[in-house]
Amino acid sequence: MENIDWSSLSFNYHKTNVNARYTYTDGKWSDMELTDDEYIKMHMSASCLHYGIELFEGLKAFRGVDGKVRLFRVEENAKRLQSSAERLCLPVPTVEMVVNACIEVVKRNLDFVPPYGTGASLYLRPVMFGTTAGLGVKPAKDALLIVYCSPVGAYFKEGIKPILVAIDREQDRAAPRGTGDVKVGGNYAASLMSGEKGHRLGYSNVMYLDAAEHKYIEECGAANFFGIKEGKYITPKSPSVLPSITNKSLRQLAADMGLEVEERHIPVEELSTFTECGACGTAAVISPIGKIFDMDTNAIYEYGNEVGEYSMKLYNALQDIQYGRAEDKYGWCTVVAE
Ligand SMILES: *Cc1c(COP(=O)(O)O)cnc(C)c1O
Repeated sequence: MENIDWSSLSFNYHKTNVNARYTYTDGKWSDMELTDDEYIKMHMSASCLHYGIELFEGLKAFRGVDGKVRLFRVEENAKRLQSSAERLCLPVPTVEMVVNACIEVVKRNLDFVPPYGTGASLYLRPVMFGTTAGLGVKPAKDALLIVYCSPVGAYFKEGIKPILVAIDREQDRAAPRGTGDVKVGGNYAASLMSGEKGHRLGYSNVMYLDAAEHKYIEECGAANFFGIKEGKYITPKSPSVLPSITNKSLRQLAADMGLEVEERHIPVEELSTFTECGACGTAAVISPIGKIFDMDTNAIYEYGNEVGEYSMKLYNALQDIQYGRAEDKYGWCTVVAE
């Protein structure tokens, strides 16, 4: 086993020992297969390549202050994977199949779970796609579900720091009755151009508005959005927002802190009334937002260069559970190794 410099890891693929696979063919799932092979052999006419019949998940395992390795809310990821599979007319694996594969992959790659205190973690990437060879547009009859993992570095290498965000109306990531609420590859392909435009202009994330009217906030890059004001945690409600498990957890923690939680439409102009706002997801937990620039109206919304009080409290509260520093009173963690 090579020596990994945990502090130099970024969010990139790094080879580990083992990945887990299930194959669906002839109407049934195979048993879980473990392999060190990083490649797959697939027909050039496979349905995932032509018609985007592909979905994925992302979750993390953490080495805690007590040395235990915890997977965070793995059943939630399994359920979301099921909803993505259903939406793409793919065979739907059981929650147990997905959870077992995740646990097995962590157990067999324990050397790749970064030590406590490095801020690094083991990222798990379940990915599933249709493999049936053919030409016509129709659901896949065969599928492959793979769970692999990769150690990833701390998201904020120099401590949690506010990000710059740009609002773009030129391209939408997802339509109201499209696939925005499931984690499928097509959404990310659709988001690349506006993301690149934002990066060229110096913004780390692009904020997407509702595709029908471009009036309401939807998502912030590949993360959910929340705003804080008047003792409230407010987050968009929309059929094209991906239900973030981090956001779901933060809503619970916000309520526990005495904040009122609102899930509703958030008009763009309301940005001027928030005292703090942020993007949330597995990668960073919370990316506090320092400034939002509206590329069409030139409006600027500023929240300062310091992390807001509630964003910091919520960030710490969630990480305390992930790292075993606080009681896991909702049973969010699965201890995979003692
Ligand atoms: C994955 C993802 C999120 C974050 O979800 P988590 O479960 O919190 O990681 C938010 N928005 C989009 C578009 C995503 O793909």
